[in-house]
Amino acid sequence: MRVLQVASEVSPFAKTGGLADVAGALPGALARLGCDVTVVMPAHREVFTRGLPIEPTGWEFEIPVGTRKQRATIHQARIPGHDPGIAGAEGTPPVTVYLIGNDSYFDRPTLYGGAEDYSDNAERFIFFSRAALELANRFEQPCDIIHSHDWQTALVPAYQKILADNWPRLARARTLHTIHNMAYQGVFWHWDMLLTGIDWRYFNWQQMEYFGQLNLLKAGIVFADMVTTVSPTYAREIQSAPGGCSLEGVLSGRGDSLMGIVNGIDTHTWNPRTDLHLPRPYDATSVAEGKSAAKAALATRLGHAAPDSRPLVAYVGRLAEQKGIGLLFDLLSRLAGSGRAKFVILGTGDPRAEESLRQMAAAYPGTIDLVIGFDEGLAHLVQGAADMLLMPSLYEPCGLTQLYALAYGTIPIVRATGGLVDTVVDAGPEALADGTASGFVFDAVDGGALVHAVERALELHADSGRWLALVRRVMAQDWSWDASARKYLRLYERALAAEPVPARVP
Ligand code: ADP
Repeated sequence: MRVLQVASEVSPFAKTGGLADVAGALPGALARLGCDVTVVMPAHREVFTRGLPIEPTGWEFEIPVGTRKQRATIHQARIPGHDPGIAGAEGTPPVTVYLIGNDSYFDRPTLYGGAEDYSDNAERFIFFSRAALELANRFEQPCDIIHSHDWQTALVPAYQKILADNWPRLARARTLHTIHNMAYQGVFWHWDMLLTGIDWRYFNWQQMEYFGQLNLLKAGIVFADMVTTVSPTYAREIQSAPGGCSLEGVLSGRGDSLMGIVNGIDTHTWNPRTDLHLPRPYDATSVAEGKSAAKAALATRLGHAAPDSRPLVAYVGRLAEQKGIGLLFDLLSRLAGSGRAKFVILGTGDPRAEESLRQMAAAYPGTIDLVIGFDEGLAHLVQGAADMLLMPSLYEPCGLTQLYALAYGTIPIVRATGGLVDTVVDAGPEALADGTASGFVFDAVDGGALVHAVERALELHADSGRWLALVRRVMAQDWSWDASARKYLRLYERALAAEPVPARVP
């Protein structure tokens, strides 16, 4: 089966969050299952700054954007294959990645903008989505499945149906669109509809219009043959308010063409046995030694003379309201003074959250280490060093950070929402007894509930034998991509066997 993956960010070429991790790892996992996979992404400036081999292909073509034509210049690279011997990733073949370049759109300091989004984001991703299909139409072998991700590429399924005459070699393909976060829908003023080249008839409340504006994600949800999101619980949550962010009706209208598949871990990148960011890679038998070496390295990195003996509680992630930063702040203000734990926070995002955390860290210099910034190597070291990882998200489509934590024997403390429900089992007495426990789960959006969960974790941590047993059990869990990639493959097969969604206007 020939599968085209279209995404706006793909590890290791460009990344702002979990989407890049998924788009970078799923192709390899599908290739391991025998799919012929190709990836298409924009040639962001970041792609050229990472020192990865990227070649020009010499292919260029013009893409209509509104009344103008914009040039697409195609580069080529590879997601590296994986050595044999890495559990869960043996024999992964390299995957070809095509990078669609246009300097005026993509030669920019960041992927989507800074504190404010780039004002031409609609145009940038209209161009990219259309160029991806134009490129795929030129492949020697036509693709069977076109799999797009998030609002940036949500026009791909709409284009494949509505402008089908432009790309005859893609006419038989089926489309699948994956939603990584309903809160980001790509909503733009209605005149951007002109840039799409799609007839105004489609600008209606059931298809591309959204309270008078153009909604790109909605187009993907309506026109894709299959729609997925990144966990079964989130798939349920988005079919009603508030999870659906006003698209709950459109989503529930998709019936059983909408489903949730939990993300996996790229076990090549996130593997404590082989992780070069750790001073002493470790497995379940050497986790205690591995973590204490990582703690020492982290302490040095953060400017401390020696590591702390208290349990180390970490937060790694975007500093955004979604991530429960308010609860994190509450927790620190209630617990940092007690001296019972040490905290390390690595994140960047909302400038106000950054400033509040700076003040909090300054108030407890020996207890809270704060690193504002995006540092992948440090994220690995923190996962290796920490005993517990906080994820108090208000909502969480899947969450990868808690999966990395499980792999690194770092016990997650999570709120019961979305993918966190599907991946972490609370260490209540029964789950501890039957060996299914993997973390601490709390429900209420309330600082007290988070404090209580952390206290339960600290209590168990004090019983070092039981804690180590829990750590070893979670490290033995398999969150590699294989199981999830198989589910995607079954869905691709289902899509190919079913009638495609028509391009009709209601
Ligand atoms: P989301 O995609 O909502 O941001 P996920 O948990 O799915 O959240 O994925 C976040 C990814 O981004 C993880 O790979 C995490 O390690 C990484 N990440 C987030 N913030 C930082 C940071 N400040 N430094 C390094 N890596 C980060």
